[in-house]
Amino acid sequence: MNSEQARERVSELRTLLTKANDAYYQEAAPLMSDREYDQLMEELRRLEEEHRLFSPDSPTERVGGEPTREFPTVTHPVPMLSLSNTYSREEVDDFDRRVRNLLGHDNYSYMAELKYDGMAIRLRYDNGRLALGATRGDGTQGDDITANIRTIRDVPLSLSGNHPQELEVRGEAYMEMAAFAKLNSAREENGETVFANPRNATAGTLKLQDPNTVARRPIRMFAYDLLLEDDNRERTQQEKLNMLDEFGFRVCEHRAMCPGIEEVHKVIEKWGGFRKDLPYETDGVVIKVNEERYREILGQTAKAPRWAIAYKFEAEQAVSRIHGITLQVGRLGTITPVAELEPVLLAGTTVKRATLHNEEEIQRKDIRAGDRVIVEKAGDIIPQVVNVVLQEEEKRGEPFRMPEECPACGSKLVKLPDEVAWRCTNNQCPPQVRNRLEHFASRDALDIDGVGEAVVDQLVTNNLVSTFPDLYRLTVDDLTPLERMGEKSAANLVASIGKSREKPFEKVLYALGIRFVGVTVARDLARAFPSVEALMEAGEEELLAVDAIGPRIAGSVRSFFEQTENGEMIRQLRELGLTFESEEKAAASDKLAGKTFVLTGTLPTLKRSEAKELIEKNGGKTTSTVSKKTDFVLAGDEAGSKLEKARDLGVKIIQENEFFEMIK
Ligand SMILES: [Zn+2]
Repeated sequence: MNSEQARERVSELRTLLTKANDAYYQEAAPLMSDREYDQLMEELRRLEEEHRLFSPDSPTERVGGEPTREFPTVTHPVPMLSLSNTYSREEVDDFDRRVRNLLGHDNYSYMAELKYDGMAIRLRYDNGRLALGATRGDGTQGDDITANIRTIRDVPLSLSGNHPQELEVRGEAYMEMAAFAKLNSAREENGETVFANPRNATAGTLKLQDPNTVARRPIRMFAYDLLLEDDNRERTQQEKLNMLDEFGFRVCEHRAMCPGIEEVHKVIEKWGGFRKDLPYETDGVVIKVNEERYREILGQTAKAPRWAIAYKFEAEQAVSRIHGITLQVGRLGTITPVAELEPVLLAGTTVKRATLHNEEEIQRKDIRAGDRVIVEKAGDIIPQVVNVVLQEEEKRGEPFRMPEECPACGSKLVKLPDEVAWRCTNNQCPPQVRNRLEHFASRDALDIDGVGEAVVDQLVTNNLVSTFPDLYRLTVDDLTPLERMGEKSAANLVASIGKSREKPFEKVLYALGIRFVGVTVARDLARAFPSVEALMEAGEEELLAVDAIGPRIAGSVRSFFEQTENGEMIRQLRELGLTFESEEKAAASDKLAGKTFVLTGTLPTLKRSEAKELIEKNGGKTTSTVSKKTDFVLAGDEAGSKLEKARDLGVKIIQENEFFEMIK
């Protein structure tokens, strides 16, 4: 591809990926699969690098930059004020009365906007391009978190429409509840502290030092305010929201023009009714005087503007009594204490159990069996105990103590350093076995129809299945004696288990349930190591050479494959026909099988990425540092220290032409 063609393709890819991105977030129907998206993104990244075609608004900029050690402080030219909160109809009416009195007439209108429970951020655009993203901080000064903000797909990197050269935008960054629940359950399983609510998860994420991690968390943003340099006093909030929309920002559809305060009350009532059905958390309605010229007259107090207030919905909490604290055993042995509650109606559902997260959390809140407690839905999904309702000390039960043994199998519980969770390390512990099997069959893993909680429970209880390979040995005759299992459904079950043999390597890898190996990490690993052998042989250094893999994941992968029973399990699964190789690998040669290469210097014709690809296609591996395990150093011009090290260690050094000979 010459540079002219490259330029064309790059521009084509950028347009396509931007469109796909918009469709993914703004419309329900995605333009392409995640896989295609990733592949095109990879192609774009490669072309940009090879032809030095960089641009700050390319979609590749969204994947995260270099980690920063400390965020620089920025001063907000226009302070980011917080709003006064109101909790009743009367207080809202009081606000309206103050506005009318200060203005001396009632020719104003209101804009009502849904209030999202997230984190306020400030964006600055210079020449139509994102130049700065900052936190609110104390309202006057915040942190420059531009690298993290760039990863939010709802934040346009460059503006569209007829936009002015310079402008500022304010928005609310937040996490959808489903994403929050998923993030928290992964953290709980990993023994990490969980976030109390989506707002904390958002704030915690945006303050991470590593944009790559931020990019993996689905933070979203609604824009709600626009600051322009011109002095157009005739502008209204409504017009500004429309402009934001035109410039490419995501603006919440739940906004309403209200000629007077009565209409505001109607909106509050209406939104309060359906807010439970929204995918994100809202905690109220923001009411703003619509006309900019009146805002100026109304001004502000030291803390808050006089032209806007927030009306807060009543929090969804309920009081209940804990009649017992039970312990749940997760897939990886994590013990989670759970409060068994007297049933209570909360946000439209009956709640009987609430997570207590971990021992520390129980001790911190001093929660005991028998206590009356306030229960809340975190992210309106998982109920949790907020705190204990004050009661007389002598009537309370004993403080909670974590037992020393697993409640399910009696093994001694252990707590690893740096972790808050206790775990049962018995691999055969029944709830662990059940949860592993459920995970194996789950949608993101091998997606086996019909293997859900109830079926897994029966299979394990009847001693039909205890390992993954057992699933593939099930026959219709094994299954028909089970409850609610006719001949036909047994046959269907066997068929759907059989069909999972066609699932790609990355899905199998995820299904194995290795600690810290989620969907994305599994995909990255399957790409870097196209067969299970390559992965099993990979040392820590090679694992760390994969972009997304840090020491924690590398350690977990290594220790999984080091266990002999896991090696045996994989051997059996492979015999049973599951896929343990990436497609690309299957189509290539094995001329370099088992050989490890290190690349150094500039090769005469091949780009480094091309050489790496050729090595992998032919069954070889590349690593970044020369060691005794290195078979060949492929050296080009201006090779440096790696070449010297290769000579010292006696590693064979080859030139590009010799390399071509090897794979011919
Ligand atoms: Zn156990």
